[in-house]
Amino acid sequence: MTMAEWIDGQGRRIDYLRLSLTDRCDFRCVYCMAEDVRFLPRQQVLTLEEIERVARLFVEGGVRKLRLTGGEPLVRPGIVGLCERLAALPGLRELCMTSNGSQLARYARDLHAAGLSRLNISLDTLDPKRFQAITRTGRLEQVLAGIAAAQAAGFERIKLNCVVMKGRNTDEVQGLVDFAIANALDISFIEEMPLGVVGGERRERFCSSDEVRALIAERHELLDSAEHSGGPARYVRLAGHPATRIGFISPHSHNFCATCNRLRLTAEGRLLLCLGQEHSLDLRGLLRRHPLHDEPLRAAVLGALQRKPAGHEFGVDDGVQVLRFMNLSGG
Ligand code: SAM
Ligand code: SF4
Repeated sequence: MTMAEWIDGQGRRIDYLRLSLTDRCDFRCVYCMAEDVRFLPRQQVLTLEEIERVARLFVEGGVRKLRLTGGEPLVRPGIVGLCERLAALPGLRELCMTSNGSQLARYARDLHAAGLSRLNISLDTLDPKRFQAITRTGRLEQVLAGIAAAQAAGFERIKLNCVVMKGRNTDEVQGLVDFAIANALDISFIEEMPLGVVGGERRERFCSSDEVRALIAERHELLDSAEHSGGPARYVRLAGHPATRIGFISPHSHNFCATCNRLRLTAEGRLLLCLGQEHSLDLRGLLRRHPLHDEPLRAAVLGALQRKPAGHEFGVDDGVQVLRFMNLSGG
């Protein structure tokens, strides 16, 4: 098998796979889930063994980076053992996780020992009341303790993820940057994406990355940077603060499809070819029909890759185009 097995129909090499371990979560963030969300029945969710099998198949074909996400990956029982087994896959360079941080005080040390290499932690506000309003069920102090625990456990280059929403947290952009600088963290600001029906007026609260950048530029000299982390973020550095990178993830205003190198696996085992479109492959069916042989799975993935779209079609004025919630697909 060659390193370059996973090449899509546009000639893009796929070396990054995001795995949604569960659709469940202990938070109900306003941009991600409805308050009365119904979770998938357990038999529809991939088992840990199935997730591991898919990961191995992709790493054998050239994937070098895995990101565990969800839902909240840390609510999945057996998460530490899974990390240990995935981190040991020959050829894998980075095993990353995106977490809401609520359980990190408990898990950070074990995750680090298991071989998890990078952590992204979501944080939209530093105000406890707002935090509760945005997450509906979360407590800020829990997440701050989680961040501290992750640093104490030895995780380096931890990145905060912040979804910016007008009327909710635009006035905190500078405070969040200060927090990142004070704690030697990276931080990415994310434009809200129109996934699923979650109520509220997304168009009114939409805040572009250019607006966020302008807010930061009021206080700091921004130095453009060609760095990237294998994901869709564009980065800047701040003059005088070398330990902090600022990222912008801008699906609306700066389409990043041309360099898309990644696929996503949903909690129920659908391989998504593009976050913004419905094309997918039912890997769960294949996994269960072919418990012993990987060849049918490999052939189906190769076929699906030829159909990976050239780009997504989000627009700020659009209504809901993709009736899939973020917790299913993994942000
Ligand atoms: N529960 C984990 C967390 O919150 O970090 C991992 C899953 S969450 C779906 C992954 C990321 O997607 C989070 O940073 C979250 O803020 C972001 N996200 C969720 N819904 C979004 C939306 N509609 N638009 C943009 N980002 C979104
Ligand atoms: Fe849960 Fe993450 Fe979605 Fe918030 S963004 S509800 S923490 S999955």
